[in-house]
Amino acid sequence: CVIRCSGTFYDKNGRFLTKQVEYETVWAHGGNCGIDDLDAIAQIDRLDDDFGIDTIEMGATIAVAMEAGVAEFGDAQAAINLVKEVGKGSDIGRILGNGAAVTGKVFGVERVPVVKNQSMPAYDPRTVQGIGVTYATTTMGADHTAGYAVATNLLGIGGTVDPLKPEGQVELSKNLQIATAAIDSTGMCVFIAFAILDQADTFQALLDLINGFAGANLTADDVNALGMKVLKMERKFNAEAGLTNKDDRLPDYFKKEPLPPHNVTFGVTDEELDQVHNY
Ligand code: SF4
Repeated sequence: CVIRCSGTFYDKNGRFLTKQVEYETVWAHGGNCGIDDLDAIAQIDRLDDDFGIDTIEMGATIAVAMEAGVAEFGDAQAAINLVKEVGKGSDIGRILGNGAAVTGKVFGVERVPVVKNQSMPAYDPRTVQGIGVTYATTTMGADHTAGYAVATNLLGIGGTVDPLKPEGQVELSKNLQIATAAIDSTGMCVFIAFAILDQADTFQALLDLINGFAGANLTADDVNALGMKVLKMERKFNAEAGLTNKDDRLPDYFKKEPLPPHNVTFGVTDEELDQVHNY
C-alpha cells in the first residue's frame, strides 16, 4: 500500500520488540490505564499480538480491572502481568480474556465503556458526539471505523459539525456508516476514506477503479445504495440474533457524568439514535 502506515518498534536497547504501536493501542494501554511508559505499552502490544487479543478491548479490560481494584491505576508491570495471565489461561486470565463487559460484570464495575459488549476506542462520546452515535448504533458494537465521525467533528474533513453538541450528529454518523459499509465491501482499506470524502476527483477515481476491475457501471448513488443494503443485511442478522434498539445505546454514565474540561454529557437522545438507520 502506498500509504504505508505501519512500521517497527525497538526497545531501549535497540532490539526489535513489535510492530509500530498504533494510535489506538497507545491510548488503550497508555492514557486509558494511566501508563506513560512507551516501552511497557509496546511490550503489552506484543503480548496482545502473541495471544491473539485486540489491543483496544484488552486496554479497556485492564482499565476496568484497575477500576475494580485488581491492579493500581498506572501500574505498567501489573498490566503486563495481567495480560500474561490471559495467555496462561488462568482463572483471572480467562475472565480478562473475555473482555471488558465480562470483567465488569464479574467484578461489579458500573462504569464499563462498551456497546453490544464491545469496548470503545480512544474517543470519548461526550466530547466527540458524532462518534458516540456511531458507537451506539453500528451493528458491531462500539466500532469507530464503522462511521468515523471524528474526521468531521475534530478534523474538519467532509464538513464541520460541533463535536460538543448533539445537533447534526445523527445525520453525520448515518452518512458515514453508509459510505463506510460500501467502502468496506469493496475490500478497500478504510484509511482511503479521508481522501475520498474530501476530494470529488478521488471519489470518482475509486468508482473508475471498481468499474474497471468489475466491468460495472457504478455511480455515486449506487455506492450509497450498496452501503444501505449492507447495513440492512447486518441489522437483519442482529435482529434475528435477538438484538433490539435497546442495544443501540451508550452506557448510562455517559449521559449522567459530565466530562472535564468541557463538562458535557452525551446529548443525543434515544429517539434520535433510533433514526440513524431510518433510510
Ligand atoms: S492498507 Fe490501510 S492499514 Fe494497510 S498500510 Fe495501507 S493504509 Fe495502512
